[in-house]
Amino acid sequence: MAQGPSQPPVVGSRWVLAREQFDTLLDSFRDHGYEVLGPTVRDGAIVYGRIEEVHDLPVGWTDRQEAGSYRLERRDDPALFGYNVGPHSWKKYLFPSRERLFTARREGPSFRVSTEPTEEGPKAYLGVRACEIAAIRIQDRVFTGGPEVDPGYAGRRTRALVVAAQCTQAASSCFCVSMGTGPEVEDGFDLVLTELVGEGPHRFVIEVGTPAGASVLAGVPLVPASPVDLAKVSERLQRTRHAMGRSLEANGIRELLLGRLDHEEWEKVGARCVACTNCTMVCPTCFCHSTEEVPDLAGSRVERWRRWDSCFNLAFSELHGGSVRTSVPSRYRQWMVHKLATWYDQFGSSGCVGCGRCIAWCPVGIDITEEAERVRLPSAPTSRGGRP
Ligand code: SF4
Ligand code: SF4
Repeated sequence: MAQGPSQPPVVGSRWVLAREQFDTLLDSFRDHGYEVLGPTVRDGAIVYGRIEEVHDLPVGWTDRQEAGSYRLERRDDPALFGYNVGPHSWKKYLFPSRERLFTARREGPSFRVSTEPTEEGPKAYLGVRACEIAAIRIQDRVFTGGPEVDPGYAGRRTRALVVAAQCTQAASSCFCVSMGTGPEVEDGFDLVLTELVGEGPHRFVIEVGTPAGASVLAGVPLVPASPVDLAKVSERLQRTRHAMGRSLEANGIRELLLGRLDHEEWEKVGARCVACTNCTMVCPTCFCHSTEEVPDLAGSRVERWRRWDSCFNLAFSELHGGSVRTSVPSRYRQWMVHKLATWYDQFGSSGCVGCGRCIAWCPVGIDITEEAERVRLPSAPTSRGGRP
C-alpha cells in the first residue's frame, strides 16, 4: 500500500513524486471528490478533457507553433507535460461557450423565472500554465470583480483546484515574459508540478500552494525535494525564460496605440484579416458574449442562453440602426486596442497574457506582436480621415 510523507504536507513544502506513481496522484484527486480535467490528444491537437489515468495525458507529444501553424510532434522522451498551450484554455470550463442562464415559465398572466443551479461538482484543473493562471485572474476580475457577480462563473471558480504545471520549454509563439505572466508559476495555484525528465529518474517536483492542495497529497507516495531537484527546477525555468519565441514591448503600449488610431497599418492588417473570430475564441481572456431568448412553440416557456461572441462579427457592434464597426480594419483595431490598451482603463491590466494562441490559430498568420511593432513605426493617416 502507498505510503504518504511522514509529515503532513504543509503550504510551501516541496516534494518529489516518481512518474510511476502519477496514477496515485490522479486517484487521490478522485478520492477527494474532484473530477480531473487536463491535457489530452484529440483531433491532432492537445486539448482539455477528462483525465482518468496517466495515458490520457499527451505522453511523449509536443506542439510546434508558428504564425498560422500548429502541429503535434513526437518527443524523444515520455514527458507528460512537454508541450506549451493548445487551442483550448480553462475558460472552456469556467466560462462555457454556451450556457443557459435562466428559464421563464408562464404561470397565469405572468412568468416564473428559475435561475440555473450552480451545484456542479469540484474539478481539478491539471496542467495549468503560468500564463493561464494570469488569464484566469483576469477573467475573475471580469466576472466577479464588479458590483454584479456572475454566479455560474463564481461557483465554478470556487470549486476548482488549480494544479499548475511549470513550462519547461517555450513555443515560438510564446511571449509571456514580455507580459510579466510567466514562465514561472508564482502564485494562484493549489499545487504546482515541475516535470523533470531526461536526467535521472522521471519525476515531478510538487510545491504545495494551499491547504486544499496539501490535503490531496496526503497518502500519495512522496519524498522531500532535495537541493539538487530544486536547482534543476530553477535551471529549467531559467532555460524557458530565455527560449521565448516572441516579444512585445508592453511598456507604454497603451499610450502608443491610443495615439495611433489613424495608423495606416489598421487598413493593411484589416485587408489580410478574414474576420473568422478564431483569435477571440482561442484567447483565454476574451469574454465577449451574446444572449438570446429561445421560446417554445406554445409560448409557455422561454430560455435565456449566453454564448461566446466576438468583436470580429459585424453584428456584435450593432446598435439601433446598424453596426458601429462596419469594416474589418475597424474591428481588428478594436480588438487589439482593447486587448493591449483600453483593457487597462477597464480592468487595471493588459488583456493579453502572451500565450500566443491568437498567433498560431489565425488562418492567415496575423501576429499581434508584429502588429504592435508595425503600429509603433510612424505612418501617414489613413485615406478615410483617420478612422478605418
Ligand atoms: S491576445 Fe493572443 S497572445 Fe494575448 S492572451 Fe489572447 S490569445 Fe494569448
Ligand atoms: S486576426 Fe486572424 S484569427 Fe483573428 S479574426 Fe482576423 S483572420 Fe481570424
